[in-house]
Amino acid sequence: MIRRGLVACGITLAGAIVFPGATGVRAQGKLSPKWEELTAADFRLGIQQSRGTCLLPFGILEKHGPHLPLGTDLLNVRYASLEAVATEYAILFPEYYFGQIFEAKHEPGTVAYSLELQLKLLQETTDEMARNGCKKIVIVNGHGGNEHLLPLFGQAQMDKPHDYVVYVLDGVPSRPGGPPKKSTGVDYHAGENETSNTMVSHPDLVHLDRAASESGADQKRVNLPEDVYTGIWWYARFPNHYSGDGSLATKELGEWNMKNWIAAIVEAIRAAKADEQSLKIQNEFYEKSKHPLDTRP
Ligand SMILES: [Zn+2]
Repeated sequence: MIRRGLVACGITLAGAIVFPGATGVRAQGKLSPKWEELTAADFRLGIQQSRGTCLLPFGILEKHGPHLPLGTDLLNVRYASLEAVATEYAILFPEYYFGQIFEAKHEPGTVAYSLELQLKLLQETTDEMARNGCKKIVIVNGHGGNEHLLPLFGQAQMDKPHDYVVYVLDGVPSRPGGPPKKSTGVDYHAGENETSNTMVSHPDLVHLDRAASESGADQKRVNLPEDVYTGIWWYARFPNHYSGDGSLATKELGEWNMKNWIAAIVEAIRAAKADEQSLKIQNEFYEKSKHPLDTRP
């Protein structure tokens, strides 16, 4: 995939018209999307340009088979998010990797914060983003272990009033088409898909020659009905914290996956920008929640 320069980003003139304070070249769409690269004054312009829409790409630090870097999820989600904001401008929050990863605590390099801290830090982060003008926050999830945490966090926003909306883009379902996959078994973690994606985002960090040095096969050590959940399921099936076969990866598959992921992020940014309803309905809900006995069926 050819990375687009920011100069070529697709920020429209119509977008620029809504910024009363925007002047000169910055109004032409050359603002960095990265929060940490903006000056304070340019940050104000960025908020105007993005119409208060900000991305929080969410990664993790965990083992990724024998051949991928610990930060694979963080590196890949930031790559896809940066590509997306080059097409549809939004401010990108800095590196964030404080998610749920208890199931990999037995592997070197895993950083697993307590559940309390995960939720508190995420809430304070989105609160601070919103205090700075990010009224529409799209959390782009890059880590499978967050798949329960993030919907819970989104739901928890109903507990107390917030003057902003949290949207969660929780992974991207594989789309039909693209290069045929070679894997025959499961491919959940550091396997053919994820290794292919990393060959696009950070090819220099992929050690393909090591990918077959451990097994990523499903060891099926617990047998329970599908609708019964137990936390040890992941370790029971994939004790090497590896699921699939990364040695089958190809750059072509990675390009296809990344293209779809980037398109889904662009779609989510545009949907958030266009969404005039969620905040209004949230406010209606918060107001009624103060006096539930007065509401009518
Ligand atoms: Zn991963």
